[in-house]
Amino acid sequence: MSTKQLDQTYIAGTYGRFDAALSRASGATYWDEDGKEYIDLGSGIAVTCFGACDPEWIAAVTAQMTTLGHTSNLYFTSPQAKLAEELCRRTGMKKVFFGNSGAEANECALKVARKYGNDRYDGKRPVIVTLKNSFHGRTIATLAATGQDVFHKNFGPFPEGFRYVAANDKAELDAALATDDVCGVLVELVQGEGGVNCLDKDYVQYVEQKCREHDALFMIDEVQTGNGRTGTLYAFQQFGITPDVVTTAKGLAGGLPMGACMIGAKAEHVLGKGDHGSTFGGNPICAAGALNVLSRIDDELLRGVRERESFIRRELEGVPGCKGVSGMGLMLGIAVDKPAGEIAAACLKDGLMVLTAHEKLRLLPPLNIDFETLKKGLDILKKHL
Ligand SMILES: *Cc1c(COP(=O)(O)O)cnc(C)c1O
Repeated sequence: MSTKQLDQTYIAGTYGRFDAALSRASGATYWDEDGKEYIDLGSGIAVTCFGACDPEWIAAVTAQMTTLGHTSNLYFTSPQAKLAEELCRRTGMKKVFFGNSGAEANECALKVARKYGNDRYDGKRPVIVTLKNSFHGRTIATLAATGQDVFHKNFGPFPEGFRYVAANDKAELDAALATDDVCGVLVELVQGEGGVNCLDKDYVQYVEQKCREHDALFMIDEVQTGNGRTGTLYAFQQFGITPDVVTTAKGLAGGLPMGACMIGAKAEHVLGKGDHGSTFGGNPICAAGALNVLSRIDDELLRGVRERESFIRRELEGVPGCKGVSGMGLMLGIAVDKPAGEIAAACLKDGLMVLTAHEKLRLLPPLNIDFETLKKGLDILKKHL
């Protein structure tokens, strides 16, 4: 059987896949099993931030793999400890819990908020406020946190204690906090899966202020926006805010599964022995990959992200069929006047990998993609807009 037939016979049918069986990749170029070449403007959904099979990253990961590949969290390991130090140093957070995915990072954040509320208010503050049109993951709890009705079918009963408010609506937030039963507010600063929509800076600062007034944890989901994607190491660094919890995953380890829940001073002592855990979380190989990624997200790289953003925006300006570009850095949404899925499929046929988010096209290219490849990709895209 072909890969496609095997997949369709034996893989649980949860994915609507594009029609390509990929077998090889280098940087922003992929090849399928027939040898056809593709330009990648998706990075495996914001994961391979330095492109596919990056040699420096591979060297860091394989060195760790041949030294100490795995042990349990019953022992200390240097890559995990150093990675936590590096994340804290560069974000101002105080403690890190490592998991293996974005959903797990958010699951940890939800537990931190719940326990913070329980510790201080004796079980009277179970509610976590999230935004409508958000996306926080696929576990039962993170689905409950996800403010989209389509995700709340089929898998109930869901855990209670979630309340949804419209993004950028201060009055709805006020109403949601008025009952003094809220332990945390969790938001994406750019809603990724929801259509690449940026929150207003003024609103985000208002959420922070209200969280302070109500003693609720101010939590930012940077699973997609994190790790250089928006032009700063974390997107919150462009909003003039100090969150209590920041979650990240996707690009963190540059292509290996890793998630992190970073906890600030206010809640740094909330989790104690036995409160949470993970077998693989923070394992040495993923931590080594992440240390390599973080060491390379410096001012120069971030300047390059913003330059590529400007380049893409200039290239798309005035193109018929492009109704506007949203997002920050190399996390961009393109409003289109045809079904985005059809455009993405046509691009793939023509040798270009792009993503969709709701009704928009979504670009998440490697952070260091060279301008020539980027231009070639955009030329293909423009033909199909
Ligand atoms: C992708 C994503 C998640 C879920 O991450 P997984 O690694 O798929 O569990 C959560 N939140 C946001 C904002 C995401 O983009």
